[in-house]
Amino acid sequence: MGKSSKDKRDIYYRQAKEEGWRARSAFKLLQIDEEFTIFKGVTRAVDLCAAPGSWSQVLSKKLRNQENLSEAEQSKVKIVAVDLQAMAPLDGVIQIQGDITSVSTANRIIDYFEGEKADLVVCDGAPDVTGQHDLDEYFQAQLLLAALNITNHVLKSGGTFIAKIFRGKDVSLLYSQLRVFFPNVTISKPRSSRNSSIEAFVVCRNYSQPEGFTPTMTNPLLNNDYELSFIDLQEENQIIIPFVACGDLSAYDADMNYPLQKTEDYKQLPPTQAPIDPPYKTACYLKRNNLLKPKSETSNGNSNNDETVQS
Ligand code: SAM
Repeated sequence: MGKSSKDKRDIYYRQAKEEGWRARSAFKLLQIDEEFTIFKGVTRAVDLCAAPGSWSQVLSKKLRNQENLSEAEQSKVKIVAVDLQAMAPLDGVIQIQGDITSVSTANRIIDYFEGEKADLVVCDGAPDVTGQHDLDEYFQAQLLLAALNITNHVLKSGGTFIAKIFRGKDVSLLYSQLRVFFPNVTISKPRSSRNSSIEAFVVCRNYSQPEGFTPTMTNPLLNNDYELSFIDLQEENQIIIPFVACGDLSAYDADMNYPLQKTEDYKQLPPTQAPIDPPYKTACYLKRNNLLKPKSETSNGNSNNDETVQS
């Protein structure tokens, strides 16, 4: 899908560029906040899997302009963003290029907070999708558990954790796992997240570590050597979690097509921030310079353009 057809088809993609957000995902966090008021009083926040940075932009804007905070408190606001990929700099956001499954990343976050813990951890992480739903759901669940592990190291008692999930058939196990650490778990579906997508966000509040629990970066729920007395994932614990559709009802519907305003004057805007070092860079370079050879040409000299590598 080309940029201009995306402009025509996706109102949030277009609006993100008009308002200066790096990605349309910004609206998801804004709409979650409309429902749950997640930023109130927050001075230390962690954005896991942050690139290209639209959630960090939202955090920076919201946390540094809170009316209920004194100037001194506002000057203490710290936002740490982590991603495997490099991210262009953002005002008021400290960046760590690292893996959220690694304990050294947790330690680097804690170092930035000078021993203090975060009020809020958000994670919009997504592994590369394979198109095989069961596998994708499994990978997404593993990433969420990695985010939960890091959260166990960096979130203060009473803090909030928000993360993307895929609502597949085994999702109730994940809810039970989250309930071990958060008495209050809600699933939210922002208007800007397409109904056709199984994506949703868990809003987990009032963090409290179970007695006897020591955070590690291994998944305690999969580690047979771990003392699991505080976790009992029996059938009766497979709870039903409230589901909340969030975002003002007047907000755009992500599954609809809205016509471009004043079509004849409409100018397609460039993205607010192009990816700075995307993994597909080499493939784009090869394609632009016509260096991608059809496979068959190299193997048996038989040219077949259908086999050209796609960027
Ligand atoms: N919230 C971001 C925004 O608003 O701009 C978009 C996040 S994007 C959907 C998902 C990100 O997850 C990708 O940038 C990817 O590099 C990151 N990611 C996936 N696995 C990761 C891992 N193990 N550690 C750190 N980042 C990871």
